[in-house]
Amino acid sequence: MKIVCIFCKSSDDIVKAGFRYNKSGQKQRYRCNKCKSFFVPNDGFWKMKHKPEIIAEACSCRKRGMPYNEVSKHFKEYDKADICPATAYNWVKKYGKVLRKFNMKQTPELSGKINIDEFVSKIKKRSSTDG
Ligand SMILES: [Zn+2]
Repeated sequence: MKIVCIFCKSSDDIVKAGFRYNKSGQKQRYRCNKCKSFFVPNDGFWKMKHKPEIIAEACSCRKRGMPYNEVSKHFKEYDKADICPATAYNWVKKYGKVLRKFNMKQTPELSGKINIDEFVSKIKKRSSTDG
C-alpha cells in the first residue's frame, strides 16, 4: 500500500512514526518529511474517537425523542461507547442535517428507521470533505 501524505499529497518521503492510540485501537502514524507533518492515513475517520455506527445510532435515538442524557446512558448501558450528553448533542448538530435529508428520501414504511450503512457512508463522505 502506498502511503500518501494527507496534507501535501506527497508519497515521496514518508516515514513511520510510531503509533497513535484511541478507543478503537492502535493506528500506525507516519511523518511526511516534505511538509513535516504527522498523520494517520485512513478513511477520513481517524480523527473521530467513535465509530460512525455509534454516531448514526446516537442521531437515531435523538430522532426518536430520546433526551441527550438518555442517549449517553443508552451507550453506557450497552457498553457500546462512553459518550457524554454534550458529545451526543454535537453529533446531532453536526450530522443531524445529513440524517434528516437522508430520511426524507426514505419510503414511508421505513420512516423512523435508519439505514445505518447508508448513513455511515454519508458521514464518511462529509467528514472527509471537512478536512
Ligand atoms: Zn506532506
